[in-house]
Amino acid sequence: MKEKIPVLYNRKEECCGCTACYAICPKCAISMQEDEEGFEYPLIDENKCVGCFRCIKVCPLKETN
Ligand code: SF4
Ligand code: SF4
Repeated sequence: MKEKIPVLYNRKEECCGCTACYAICPKCAISMQEDEEGFEYPLIDENKCVGCFRCIKVCPLKETN
């Protein structure tokens, strides 16, 4: 069965584009993608992600911190 994939943000207000998740991912599963306004948001490659949730733990905008 596939590992659980974290949700980095549901709304763009929940992400400030700091790239911390991108930087910490041990599998390089996160890439930063520019939206139509030129802001970068992280996108998880579900085929690379192993569900370690380090990206969620490092995110400054998650309440779990
Ligand atoms: S859960 Fe782990 S492997 Fe998956 S995107 Fe986050 S840091 Fe990377
Ligand atoms: S760590 Fe959080 S705020 Fe920073 S880019 Fe990733 S999801 Fe966005």
